[in-house]
Amino acid sequence: MNYVLQDVYEKEQNFYAGFGSFCHKLLESILKGYMDFEEAISYYQNNFYTDIDCFDISDSIKENYFYLGLDYFANADFDWLNAYEVLGIEKKCVFTFEGKKFIGYIDLLIREKSTQNIIIIDHKSSEYPLSSKGKVLAKEKSSFESYKKQLYLYSEAIYQEHGSYPTKLCWNYFKTQKWLSIPFVHKEFEAAKKWALGVISMIYNERDFLPAENWFYCNHLCSYRNSCDYKLMGGDDDN
Ligand code: SF4
Repeated sequence: MNYVLQDVYEKEQNFYAGFGSFCHKLLESILKGYMDFEEAISYYQNNFYTDIDCFDISDSIKENYFYLGLDYFANADFDWLNAYEVLGIEKKCVFTFEGKKFIGYIDLLIREKSTQNIIIIDHKSSEYPLSSKGKVLAKEKSSFESYKKQLYLYSEAIYQEHGSYPTKLCWNYFKTQKWLSIPFVHKEFEAAKKWALGVISMIYNERDFLPAENWFYCNHLCSYRNSCDYKLMGGDDDN
């Protein structure tokens, strides 16, 4: 629906996506030098309730997110970036795998001045996925695997533009003010590529396109949750 029928069905926000986009835009403005942190904090306070256009959550969640974001911008510091060359901010990358075209946006792409190592960074408003022992939490496993695949796929764009793969994939979990980075592993890159090509071939071979059945997603997150024919017919009632 999102890509094929976007002109037919009305698309809507959810609070979590709205919060993520709001903070992403502020980070983009800071990193591009359009705002300093003081201006960003003031913008955050003045526009949180107007720029995010969906508040279908409880007052306590709203307040909690407001202060988590505010704390992040009040404590954030990008001075360490002086050791890096910024190769792109919200950088659009178009690349191909076996003739199949992919498009993505890299939040922040940097190259270390001393080593020339390239690092891909993704800002995330979701929960930090590691336990205190450094293991991926069971409930975060599936989304973290998707985030990894996404950055591995973007690595191909880096290779096609710069002639080398990144050395690290990083996530800025800004809501919890934590960073996570993993080394680039070629075997994992190949696995992500195989997965993506497999999904494309599955889509081409699919005839029925049965709806996804996930109660929380269908009722709270999906951009078409109030216009989806399947849901309006009660298709997700059993979940
Ligand atoms: S509401 Fe559920 S079934 Fe309908 S488009 Fe969204 S995810 Fe798919």
